[in-house]
Amino acid sequence: MIPRLRPYLGREEILTIFKSRKYAVRRFEQAFAMQFHSIYAVAFPYGRSALWAFLNALELKEVEVVQPAYTCSVVPHATVLSGNIPVFVDNTLTDYNMDIDLFADAITPNTRVVIPTHLFGYPMDIDKVNDIVRHAEKKYGHKIWVIQDCAHSFDARFKGKTVTNAGDGAIFGLGISKQITSIFGGVFTTNDEVIAKKVREFRNRNFKKPSWKKSTLRYLYLLAVDLAFQPIIYGFVYWLQEKTPFLNRLTKAYHLDEKIHFPPDYLDQMTNIEALVGLEQLKKYAVMRSKRIEIAKKYFETIINPKDMVLPPEIDGATYSHFVIRSDARDRLLAFFASQGIQLGQLIEYSMPHHPAYKTYAKDKPFPNSFLCSNSMINLPIYTNLYDIDIIRIVSFLLHYSENHEK
Ligand SMILES: *Cc1c(COP(=O)(O)O)cnc(C)c1O
Repeated sequence: MIPRLRPYLGREEILTIFKSRKYAVRRFEQAFAMQFHSIYAVAFPYGRSALWAFLNALELKEVEVVQPAYTCSVVPHATVLSGNIPVFVDNTLTDYNMDIDLFADAITPNTRVVIPTHLFGYPMDIDKVNDIVRHAEKKYGHKIWVIQDCAHSFDARFKGKTVTNAGDGAIFGLGISKQITSIFGGVFTTNDEVIAKKVREFRNRNFKKPSWKKSTLRYLYLLAVDLAFQPIIYGFVYWLQEKTPFLNRLTKAYHLDEKIHFPPDYLDQMTNIEALVGLEQLKKYAVMRSKRIEIAKKYFETIINPKDMVLPPEIDGATYSHFVIRSDARDRLLAFFASQGIQLGQLIEYSMPHHPAYKTYAKDKPFPNSFLCSNSMINLPIYTNLYDIDIIRIVSFLLHYSENHEK
């Protein structure tokens, strides 16, 4: 079966177990900062911990944090769990990022942080964001921090400029489904010495050293993931996931719960083994980036006018962490592809203001685009080790479906 995602792991990542762990996290932070054009990087156990730590380190409390309605649930979770208030902004139906006019309207006297998110690898207009923020700072007479959410867009470019350091800082997620992985893990980057110092000191004071047992378990998890995503084995994994409850804890527990919560280990530091895996992945980043862009190009060239489906935009500087298509008949399309041995993803399949736990923050506003996307988004496989023959199969089944299905 062709999996919907597949981390690009090789012998180098597996052999990290034999490498020196000395200063591994520090070395990873330095290499990460260098790769993504920042001066400082601070590693965390998850991307969400990085955002949470930033908000705490700057002692921001009960302030409004403007963010997309259509985003990963960990962003509003980090906002609320740090004692702050998420303010949601609906997305466009073109690049799925925050609508810039609605973004400007969402800023109030109590806004202290905004989170431009470059969803699916599409760069937001960082110039407009910064203009709006500078204008609001003047109007209200205080600082508003801009934190780029680069979890989908490591080094996406807007008009040739990397989005990473277009604000006061950036957060990255490094879980197994991200563009590069450190097994779990996240990073905060900044070019501001004072912010870097505060975030690092906050982490060192509040995040504890992970146990030896945890490092070992993380490594075993890496081995399991490497195995599970082999196409030969993935059919069995898919069956386990769809037809049995065995993998629920790993695959379903992530977002679909009713509560605002973090995993129990969110206050652990990144493990050395994760940092070593991250170091290997950084070396492959350039290859992985260009491969994704190449696959996206192939999809754009060959998927022409599919019926009842909306293709994503082709944008210079996008990194295509996901190749997304919208269809009102998502479930049927997913089932058809699964029957042909191809798994499609449905990222992101929820809308934060419509999440029961966030009703009060939605303030009865509708967020129609976020809602629409949450019910119709599909993502095609796009990863470094996707074979050309797989791309051809995916495209031909998509065109076949588009020609033959009844609406
Ligand atoms: C994955 C992700 C994050 C960070 O997630 P963690 O699982 O906490 O590392 C942040 N924002 C977005 C949009 C993401 O997809």
